[in-house]
This record gives sequence, C-alpha cells and structure tokens, in this order.
Amino acid sequence: MSGPSDEGTGVRLPVVSPHLVIAIDGPAGSGKSSVSKAVASRLGLAYLDTGAMYRAVTWAVLDAGIDPDDAAAVAYLIDGADSPALESGTDPANPTIMVNGTDVAGPIRGDEVTGAVSAVSAVPVLREHLVQLQRRYASDSAAGIVVEGRDIGSVVLPDADLKVFLTADPSVRAQRRAAETQATEQSHVSATEEALRARDAKDSSRAVSPLTRADGAVELDTTDLTFEEVVDAVVRLAQEAK
Ligand code: C5P
Repeated sequence: MSGPSDEGTGVRLPVVSPHLVIAIDGPAGSGKSSVSKAVASRLGLAYLDTGAMYRAVTWAVLDAGIDPDDAAAVAYLIDGADSPALESGTDPANPTIMVNGTDVAGPIRGDEVTGAVSAVSAVPVLREHLVQLQRRYASDSAAGIVVEGRDIGSVVLPDADLKVFLTADPSVRAQRRAAETQATEQSHVSATEEALRARDAKDSSRAVSPLTRADGAVELDTTDLTFEEVVDAVVRLAQEAK
C-alpha cells in the first residue's frame, strides 16, 4: 500500500496507521496487567484485560449456583436468555468490569473465582462469545489498544501490530503475586507458586486456545528485569512496529 503523494515531488509517503494494536500474552503472574496498563498509558492507548472478562463470567457462573466444572451447564448459561452482560472500562488508569450492571472488580480477584476460572474459560462457546466481544473492543478503540490475556496474539488478534509473550520464572511470579497481596511469608509464597503452576498447566493443556506463544510474538523473559525495564522494552518494540 502506498501513501498520499508528496506534492510537487511525486514521492509516495508511507502510510502510518494511527491505530496501534498490541497483544500481550503470558502465564499468571508474569506481569502482564501492570506492564500492559503502563504501556497503554505511555502510548495513549486503551487497555483491555481479557482475564478479567473470563473471571467476571466465572463470577456469574458461581453466582447462578452453577458447578464451574459442569461445562454443559456453563454453556447453557452463556447461550441462554440469562447470558451475563459484560462491560469492560478500557481506561488504563481506571479499568473497570461489570456484570449485568454490577461492579465485580473486587470479587473476581477472590480465591473462589481464581480456583474456578480455568475450568470455565475452557468452555468453547464462552470463548467464542468473548473473542467476538474482545475484537469489538479492539476495533472500537480510537487510537488503538493494548489487549492482554492468553490467546490474544494467537486467536483474538493475530494481525496485531506487536505481539509480546511475557514469561518469568514460576518462583519469581509467585513472589510478585504474594507481594501484591502483602503476604510474603514463605509458606504463602510456596502455596501461591503451586496454585500458579496448576493454573498454567490447565491453561496450557486445554483443547481450545491454549496458552501458547503466538507466531511472530517477541518473547520477553522478565525474571531479571525491573518493571520499568519491561515497560521500556515493550514501548520500544511498539515504536519500531509502526
Ligand atoms: O490473566 P488472569 O490471570 O486474570 O486470567 C484468569 C484466567 O482467565 C486464566 O487463568 C485463564 O484460565 C483465563 N484466560 C483465558 N484467556 C484469556 C485470558 C484469561 O483463558 N485470554
């Protein structure tokens, strides 16, 4: 594709799309959310946390009294008249998540939802619904968007301008997660690491859209990097991508 003609010289200028789409995937505790929000703020982009969307549906499943391991019942809820209506606020400075008009930002981070989310998010019909919704958020964003999750570069937005796969040592990921909740005793860190490994195993082995590094994704191992170093690296990659 060529750009508008540079008047007088006949030189074609390259087209610089004002719409930038960045896909950030990785396992639990790799720093996706904080890095994605900071990158979106620095670049003036919207931000979408797709993990929060899967967590919100899981909250609705539990709220409806449905067994999260009952895939047929979960699918029935999603496809039925009482399908939960999700609304994600995409301001990186203040991301929000609502289910049927109820703010669920707090409860979706609780142990009950965290323990059930991998089972619920493996239900194919739910993934179809959320992938459509996530694509709509991306195409509706004015300047562009940073979308984070597990299958963004591989399934949701395979044509993203930049795809990043964030990783970090499981023990470092557990320490970061524990520090977020200010529970840094060794027993708690070990339990967190065990829970992260179990969730990674489920998310990586499911039949539909498993957690995987997408074709063309840049892998960034954040084990020995500071938060600012990771953000700088992604911002640099984004600037080179356009
Ligand atoms: O990112 P977060 O840890 O909040 O995601 C919660 C869960 O949602 C993941 O463990 C995974 O089961 C599911 N998820 C997913 N696909 C995404 C984002 C999250 O299956 N794109």
